[in-house]
Amino acid sequence: SPFLQVEHIRDQFPGLANNWHYLDTAATAQKPKVVLDAMMRAGGVDYATVHRGVYARSANMSVAFEAARTRVARFMGATSADEIVFVRGATEGINLVAHSWGTANLTAGDRIMLSQLEHHSNIVPWQMVAEKVGAFIDVCPLTKDGQIDLDWLEAHLTPAHKMVALAHVSNVLGSVLDAKRAAHAAHAVGAKLLLDGCQAAPRMHLDMAALGCDFYVMSGHKLYGPTGVGVLWAQAETLNAMPPYQGGGAMIDRVTFEKTTYAPAPSRFEAGTPMIIEVIGLHAAIDFIDSFGPDALFAHESALAAQTCDALRAISSITLYGPEQSAGIVSFSMVGVHPHDIGTILDEENVAIRAGHHCAQPLMDHLGVPATARASFGIYNDEDDVAALVRGLERVKRIFG
Ligand code: PMP
Repeated sequence: SPFLQVEHIRDQFPGLANNWHYLDTAATAQKPKVVLDAMMRAGGVDYATVHRGVYARSANMSVAFEAARTRVARFMGATSADEIVFVRGATEGINLVAHSWGTANLTAGDRIMLSQLEHHSNIVPWQMVAEKVGAFIDVCPLTKDGQIDLDWLEAHLTPAHKMVALAHVSNVLGSVLDAKRAAHAAHAVGAKLLLDGCQAAPRMHLDMAALGCDFYVMSGHKLYGPTGVGVLWAQAETLNAMPPYQGGGAMIDRVTFEKTTYAPAPSRFEAGTPMIIEVIGLHAAIDFIDSFGPDALFAHESALAAQTCDALRAISSITLYGPEQSAGIVSFSMVGVHPHDIGTILDEENVAIRAGHHCAQPLMDHLGVPATARASFGIYNDEDDVAALVRGLERVKRIFG
């Protein structure tokens, strides 16, 4: 069976008490007790600053902070901890690349390739840098079933394209990108590939070398860790060739009023006191999800998504969006019912879904709807949650029928 035994897993999540059917993990994942405990210790008995203290507590905290970086590097299949930049989240990671790499490497007339299904955080930073340098944005269309059309991409990339930035997994449709093929296509014209791994990192085995991308971003809070921490991965050589994004303490080599020189990566991108407690929490979260094995989460959640699609297809007024094979995320609509009303009625049934544009308005425009309802699965969901969703949707249909 592709399914994990979730009873024991659910018990570890204080946020899931009272049989709550939480189907909004794509927005943010609930946190296991090991993560909350690790953060409580880090902010309590172990708390001190990193990098600067000469006393033992601070030295210990610095060791723990760097151990988290090493753990993240192993989780991502990076070759060195120097490739791991701690940022506030995926959004900050993409802004960092757009502003730092973008302003240093893009000039007037250059082109940036995005796709129709990107999250606003993988659109707006590129628009900002494009406007600043006079670059243009192209949009790769989707196949009929909602995947980034790589045939089109291969046919339309040109040497003017310097950056290709794509979601590894769509937060709306659950579509999984063939990242290796996208990397090959980008590199064939001399472009870099940035992957938005927000939804892939909590579900798929990551191996930076195998993916072949140049930049990878992810958010801690979607990985069963805390908010306020995320990761940007790039090869140290790439990072060291990029100008700093923010200035301040901890990112310098030597400061004088005449001239300041910068520390090598990753420090040069980590100005100021970092998110110490959150980084320790992220370490615990990665230990937690890795303990299930590299492919267990994907198998579990995509099987729940498939089961959900089968059940929803049987309800005649429901339209499903996205590919047959979804990484645990199911978007749908119901004839004559606004997604927000679906969400409100499901809430009365103790079922939490997301309704809205999911920060992907261009994708909504493509689908021809203002919003969708979205059920997304996590490690703690099971067939009971699917059954509760289906029961709730049958009630929605009766009310609006
Ligand atoms: N990209 C995708 C695909 C996402 O799902 C999200 C979060 N919804 C983001 C980017 C932005 O992540 P964050 O808000 O954690 O920075």
